[in-house]
Formats: sequence, C-alpha cells, structure tokens
Amino acid sequence: MMRFVLIAIFVTSLFAQAPDWAKVEAETLKHFTEIVKINSADPGGSEKPVVDYIKKVLDAEGIESKIFTMENFADPDIIRPNLIARLKGSGKKKPLLIVGHTDTVNVDEKKWTHGPFSAHREGGYVYGRGTVDDKDNLVAAMMSIILLKRQKVQLDRDVIFMAEAGEEGNPAIGVAFLVREHYPEIDAEYCLAEGGSVVRTAGTLKMVSVQTTEKIPAGVRLVANGVAGHGSVPLQSNAVVHIAQAVAKVAAWQPPMRLNDTTRTYFERLATVATPEERARYNGLLDPEKTDAIQAWMAANDPRHNSMLRTSVSPNIIKAGYRRNVIPSEAEATLDIRALPDEDLKKFDEQLRSVINDPAVKIVRDGWASRPGAAPSSLTNEAFKTIEAVAKKHYPGVPTIPSMSTGATDMAFLRSKGMQCYGIGPMIDSEDGPKGFGAHSDQERILESSLYTFVKFHYDLVEELAKVK
Ligand SMILES: [Zn+2]
Repeated sequence: MMRFVLIAIFVTSLFAQAPDWAKVEAETLKHFTEIVKINSADPGGSEKPVVDYIKKVLDAEGIESKIFTMENFADPDIIRPNLIARLKGSGKKKPLLIVGHTDTVNVDEKKWTHGPFSAHREGGYVYGRGTVDDKDNLVAAMMSIILLKRQKVQLDRDVIFMAEAGEEGNPAIGVAFLVREHYPEIDAEYCLAEGGSVVRTAGTLKMVSVQTTEKIPAGVRLVANGVAGHGSVPLQSNAVVHIAQAVAKVAAWQPPMRLNDTTRTYFERLATVATPEERARYNGLLDPEKTDAIQAWMAANDPRHNSMLRTSVSPNIIKAGYRRNVIPSEAEATLDIRALPDEDLKKFDEQLRSVINDPAVKIVRDGWASRPGAAPSSLTNEAFKTIEAVAKKHYPGVPTIPSMSTGATDMAFLRSKGMQCYGIGPMIDSEDGPKGFGAHSDQERILESSLYTFVKFHYDLVEELAKVK
C-alpha cells in the first residue's frame, strides 16, 4: 500500500496537471499588453522598464533573476539591462535556453492609426510596436518558465530564460556581451528564440516554419580613385565610370548555388504544400538539366528564394561627385553581402576581386563578418524532432519546415558556441505583412488567439524538452 502511494505521488509529480489555460490566457494578455505599452524602441525608448516589469512578475512567482548590464562609459545614463532567470533541473541533461528580446525598432508615431504603445485591441488583434517582434516570444518564454515553476514540473535539465537587450542593431550590449562575459549563465544544449512562424494563407494553415540557420552579413565598400579634372575633358580614369562598371559587374554576377541541410529540406518540404508550378521548381533545383532555368526564374521573380540559394550581393549605396563640371577623384559603392553560413569568406573576397577585375577599384571591408558564422542546427536531434511532434499537436495537418533566414538574428552568436538553436513564432497570416501589419511596420499587430496558441505550443515544447522522462 505504502509503495502504491509513493508511486502515485511520484507519478502525479511526473505528470503534473495541465495549466488552467483560460486563466493563463487572461494572464498572458495582461502581461503582453503591459509590455507592449512600454516604449522600448531603439532609439527612443529603453529596455529597462521592460526588465523591471519582468523581474517583478518573476519575483512574485518565486523565480530568481539576475540582471547583466554592459557598462556604458560614453553615457552612464543609458542603461540597457539583460535579464536571466534559471529553473534548476536534475542536471541529467545540458540546459535549455529560451529567449526573447526586450527592445523593438523605433517608431514614427504619426504614421500609426492606433498608437505604437497603445496595445489597442480590435477585431481580435492587439496592435503595437513589438507585437510580432519580439514581445510575443518574450512573453511566451516568460509564461513557459512561470508555468513550469507553478506546475512543479520535475526537470532533467535547467531551463534558462533570457530577456535580452539590443537585438535590433545593437547586439554588442545584448547577446554578444552575454556570450563574451557571462557565457556560463546561458550555456545550453538547445535554444529557442525568434525567427520562425506558423504560416496561414487565405485562412488555411500552410506550414510551421522553424529557423535553423541564417546567412552571415558582410559589408564591403568599393572605392575607385582616378584623376580629378575639368568636366569638358573626359578621362578614362574617371572614378565614377570605374565604380559604375564595378557595380554593374557585381550585380550581373550570380555566385554559385549551394544548398545545405536546411535549405535542401526546406525546398523538399515546401514542395509538398506548393502549387504544381512551384513544386516543379523546388524539386527541379538539383536537376542539372533544369537548374539554370529555375535559378534564372527565381532571380527575376522570387528574390527571397534566390537569396537562399547563394551568397548574395546587393549594391545599396553609391557616392560620387559634387558638381557637373568637375571629374571627381573618388567614387564609392557600398555592397551588402549575405554569405551562406558555410561560406569561405576569404575565397569569396578573391572571387569578388576577380569579378570586378579593375586595379582602379579597391575593396575595403566595412562590416565584414560582423557576426559569427556557424553550421546549421541539426534536423535529426531530439530538439528538432520534439518541435515537429509538438507542432503537429498544435498546428495539425501541416509540415514543419526548417528555414534559413536571409537576415541576421542573435542566434548566430549562440550557434557559434555550439548551441543548437531553433527560431519559432506564432501563427501569422501571410497576407498581413503585404497589407502593412507585419513586424517593423506602422501597424504591427498579432491575433490574440494566435498569441495564446503560441504560448501553449511554447510551454508544451519547453516542458517536453526539459521534463524528467
Ligand atoms: Zn526581433
């Protein structure tokens, strides 16, 4: 009998009751709207009140948190703290890190119908800066750690919650600072952060997109020098001409296509939910007979997929000259290079030189490899398989598709330390972005119901990865 009672106690503590989701939804909405109402835009706001808010909430749950702030010698009044909280597990497995960023991009207040910090609720949506980037992930991660604690879930690994500052363009005070100075506080086997989403099109779920790798941003300036002179006497050494030719050559160049585990699986699985024409293209990419035509089609009509195929180069700034009758002695162009995660940048630099092939044009590295590169996260480990299984439960009937961001996220810093990171996110209608309701837009919004489902998905995923088994 005693033994039976002990087993019963053990079993109930292993399989804790599910949270009361109706209550959790109300709580989620309260925290989410309160946090959206805080202006944490960079520039213009501050992460500190968000961190203060989270700390208070965690304190009330009996969850200890630590604050890490990089010293700001230039302006000691600007405090941009990062918060880290940890629930202890048995230590049988390495920790799981769950991440949200507390800052947002800045706003142009007069362009907003509902104020950017109003958290206005209408038609099932919550409006405001950060609603889908990244206060959704921030609140979901906070709710997950709170619920694990409240449900007394026995853990095989520590769960670490990181509310990081400076994600939008200033990782030096956020993730880069934490990785460099406080890595033991966040060291984990797996991490979950932003960068994914559940895609719904025309009201139908299409896929669960999980970011498993990203391109590495690298910048260069092309600088041409020539002889200055009178505009009435054209010179072949004209810097404007040399820079224009260099830009034209770079723009016409398509670095070779190369797929990695993530992009290969991405196109394979995307084909299963695509139209027949799309499917033929995605499946034909590796067919030597068809690939050239498909790549040319994507370059012209599907630029995002074209960028996923290769290291890309986009000339985005050009500067030269100051008056019509003067041949300037210098001209320059800035190139935005987004390298594949496994790109050998040294070799790429040589290729770029041979494409430009002009001794009058110098290549100056500017923002070159500003973020670390790392191999894509695994698609066959426990973490990815669990994401797939939990996604199936909350978003039934659609595939989980790994993806490579063409843009950069803070996961690059964590992956470079060997962490296996996965970008997740709530369900978003694919029509929302083009209509001006997406991340960084002037009417950023989230479906309330989508936020609630995401919190459940997040919690189930974290619990499944961390609980005693
Ligand atoms: Zn973000």
